[in-house]
Parts: sequence; C-alpha cells; structure tokens
Amino acid sequence: MTAQLMDGRAIAKTMRGEIASSVAGFVKQYDHIPAIAVVQVEGDPASVAYVRQIEKSFVGVGMGFTLHLLPETCQAADLVELIQGLNVDSAVDGIIVQMPLPRHLPQSLVTAALLPTKDVDGIHPLNAGKLLQGAADYLAPATPSGGMELLKRYNIPLKGKRAVVVGRSNVVGRPMAVLLLHQNATVTICHSHTADLAAVTREADILVAAIGKPAIITADMVKPGAVVIDFGVNLVGEHMVGDVDTMGVSEVADFITPVPGGTGPMTNVMLMLNTLSAAERHYPHKLA
Ligand code: NAP
Repeated sequence: MTAQLMDGRAIAKTMRGEIASSVAGFVKQYDHIPAIAVVQVEGDPASVAYVRQIEKSFVGVGMGFTLHLLPETCQAADLVELIQGLNVDSAVDGIIVQMPLPRHLPQSLVTAALLPTKDVDGIHPLNAGKLLQGAADYLAPATPSGGMELLKRYNIPLKGKRAVVVGRSNVVGRPMAVLLLHQNATVTICHSHTADLAAVTREADILVAAIGKPAIITADMVKPGAVVIDFGVNLVGEHMVGDVDTMGVSEVADFITPVPGGTGPMTNVMLMLNTLSAAERHYPHKLA
C-alpha cells in the first residue's frame, strides 16, 4: 500500500485564490485593507525567512503587512509599548510576535499586552480558553488550524474516529487535540512521559505528530489505513524532515502529509484567514 500524499502546497495555492477574492470584496465594502503587523525582536536567523514568507503571502492576496523590528537588546517596556500601540492602530487587524524571543523577554509579557481580538495566532489565554470551551469567536493557532483544513479538504471523516495527538505544546499539539474534539473525534494526547507510545499510536485512525524529533513515528507505530498528519520541521543535515518516517509509514497509512509541502504551507494561509476574520469582526457596524 502507498499512502496518498496530502498536498499542502496545492491546497494552500487554491486557498490563496479564495482569500484574494474575499479580500477584494472586503476592501470594496469597507474601504479598509485587512492587515497584519509582525513584531520581530532581532537575533533569531530562522525568523527572518519566516517573516519574509508571511510578507510574500499577505501582499500576494492584497492584504496589508508591516514589520516592526526591535533590537535584541530591547527592554520589556519597549516590546509592551510597541504591542500596545498596534492594539489601538486601526490600520492593523492582526498582530503576531515572532517567537522565540530573547531570554530576557518572557512570552507571558506578549500575551499580557496583546489585544485578544488582534491575536491572530491564538496565543492569548482568552482565545485558548474560548477554543477549549468551543465558543464561537476564538482565534485558533494557525498551524493546527491548517492541519484541520487539510483533513477537511481531503474529506477525511473525523466523527467517532480515534485520534491520537503526539505533542502538547500550546501552539500545535494541544489546540490540535481540541479542534479534533470539536469535530467529535475521540482524542488521546501523548507526550514525552507517555508509557508505550507505540501501543497508543497504533490505535489511531487519525495520527498527529507535533514532536520536533526527526522520523520518530515509524511504520510499526501506525495502524493500517490511518491518516497521518506530520507537523514536524526538523533539519537533518541540509534536509528538512518531519516527525514521521514518511517512506516507511506510507506503506501502512492511507493518507500522509509530506514534509516539506504538507502542513507547512497551510500555516500562512490560516494566518491570513485569521487576519481576515479579525478584520471582519472589527467592521461589523458597517455591514450592509
Ligand atoms: P514543543 O513545544 O517542543 O513540543 C513538543 C512536544 O512533543 C511536547 O509536548 C513533548 O512532550 C513532546 N515530545 C517530545 N519528545 C517526545 C517523545 N519522545 N515522545 C512523545 N512525545 C514527545 O514543539 P512544538 O512547538 O509543538 O513543535 C512541534 C513540531 O512542529 C516542531 O518540529 C516544530 O518545528 C513544528 N512546527 C511546525 C509548524 C508548521 O507550520 N508545520 C509550526 C510550528 C511548529 P512534553 O510536553 O512532555 O515535553
């Protein structure tokens, strides 16, 4: 058996077209360009490439993008002041602060300062709490939302299925588990203390890897016919690989996301959708 690859690049391309036409409609109706502000504290070389990707994606669909750079030596007060300024800037609908931050700037500083309605990567505790409770108006983290969108676009049934999520970070594993739960899957979350991980993953109809260790999910850990979503981004030499041994697992699973080209391209698309929906919420009074 060879699994069908879930082509995140192709889906993301289709979605960019859909978003571009929604943006054009929004601009026409409200005379406002939905826009994201990216805050970047210098010092993390990997962030530079990621921020460039965000700019390209947003500009490509007609959305606004501004970059706000702070030096690595900036103080907590500088970061908070910048975020608070963006909170009240009516040209800005969404804000993300690039992680990781330097050690002297804890993430809690960002979440405390960020306006929840502009928190387009869903890191604010209010959005995380609303997501957990299944409220209607939360902004969910972009990466797991992208994984869910892939499942939806490949018509993968979730209701009543056994889902196993390996990883419980606040930005990937944990929200992915909650999103699967909202679709009526029966969800188990695994982590570094899970006993006999393979026995648990082998029960999964939907297996999600959000671990950050190369090819740790092997064919013997996967139920025949499973759908495997790989969020892992690991550099091995010069190659990017996922958390799943794609070649081996493809012989067992029915569907699998490749790395690169699976979940990765979906993240920016969901960031754009979150920004558009934040903008829509900022302009309800103008509804025709
Ligand atoms: P993280 O914060 O380091 O969390 C990793 C999780 O994996 C933790 O919950 C950890 O358990 C668990 N874990 C580690 N080793 C394990 C093991 N041997 N067995 C079972 N569980 C284990 O990482 P993250 O931010 O969630 O990111 C996960 C991966 O996704 C990374 O490769 C990252 O680069 C990638 N990522 C991809 C995208 C995308 O767009 N595709 C976006 C963001 C991140 P404990 O909680 O017990 O420590």
